[in-house]
Amino acid sequence: MKMGVVMPERLVDINGLPLKTITKTTEGLHIGALATNSDVADHSLVLQDYPLLSLAINAGASPQLRNMATVGGNMMQRTRCNYFFDTAMPCNKRSPGSGCGALTGYNRMHALFGASDQCIAVNPSDMNVAMVALDAVVHVKGPKGERKIKFADFHRLPGDHPEKDNTLERGELIMAVDLPAAAQAFNRHVHYLKIRDRSSYAFALISVAAALNVDGTTITDARLAMGGVAHKPWRLHTAEVFLKGKTVGDEVFRQAAQMAMQGAKAYKYNQFKLTMAPNAIVQALKMASA
Ligand SMILES: Cc1cc2nc3c(=O)[nH]c(=O)nc-3n(C[C@H](O)[C@H](O)[C@H](O)COP(=O)(O)OP(=O)(O)OC[C@H]3O[C@@H](n4cnc5c(N)ncnc54)[C@H](O)[C@@H]3O)c2cc1C
Ligand code: SF4
Repeated sequence: MKMGVVMPERLVDINGLPLKTITKTTEGLHIGALATNSDVADHSLVLQDYPLLSLAINAGASPQLRNMATVGGNMMQRTRCNYFFDTAMPCNKRSPGSGCGALTGYNRMHALFGASDQCIAVNPSDMNVAMVALDAVVHVKGPKGERKIKFADFHRLPGDHPEKDNTLERGELIMAVDLPAAAQAFNRHVHYLKIRDRSSYAFALISVAAALNVDGTTITDARLAMGGVAHKPWRLHTAEVFLKGKTVGDEVFRQAAQMAMQGAKAYKYNQFKLTMAPNAIVQALKMASA
């Protein structure tokens, strides 16, 4: 709003709504949309049962920002593409039909997967990467009633409508996010690796959320997702399936990373991500398995 990127006619303060609580349920953990990033990351049940989420949130922003930022707000934050924020430049996300400044511009921070010729921006959130890896479910409420959306389906790829970041409909509010009890199996071998231009207060060039279930040296299950590579948090299903039943080790991790990178497409200034991303996956898996 300060930069004139969006000019809403009306603002609604939702801070008074009773959506701040974090409660254990029979199905897992229920996190209100107004719980702050700090409250979630420091919560004893999150630290105990879903430590991957805590690591991802704490890799984002700064302590001051995390004290203010909410779950709903973090999910809804828009891309950090410089052309989106520069109102003198074309941007299909800000102004549909105006073109994409980044496509032939300085696209160092941009996508490797799922982009379109309309938009190559990435979703900037760290929290979202862990949420998608943990199979979270979003509760929303709107004029037509309540519905649940799988976290993986909440954010969308740009296609021909990059102005739409997600599948929330007009008038809908995020009420809560649920973490399923099944994801508690990934409470031991986890790592969130974030590669950025400086160690604090910077968005991810590449991030990897890795969670393994390990029996002895055998990987019995795996969860893997990447940030900084797509218009939505990018789950690495093929690599997860490959890892299941394999023995922990560098070569297996390298093969998983290669699989995860299939279909990657870089632009002029983000070619380095084609090397950085698989290396980050291997490193995150090593750290998670340690
Ligand atoms: C300098 C800086 C660095 C940052 N670095 C990182 C980082 O490295 N990693 C990271 O993940 N994040 C980062 N952030 C983002 C930050 O963590 C916040 O998540 C983000 O700014 C949103 O904050 P908020 O909760 O105050 O949302 P707001 O700014 O209040 O809202 C953001 C949007 O979400 C909408 N919204 C909010 N709540 C709901 C709801 N319940 N239902 C529907 N819509 C809703 C609002 O209408 C608005 O459009 C950074 C932010 C800044 C300013
Ligand atoms: S990448 Fe997307 S957000 Fe960036 S300029 Fe192009 S259309 Fe706009």
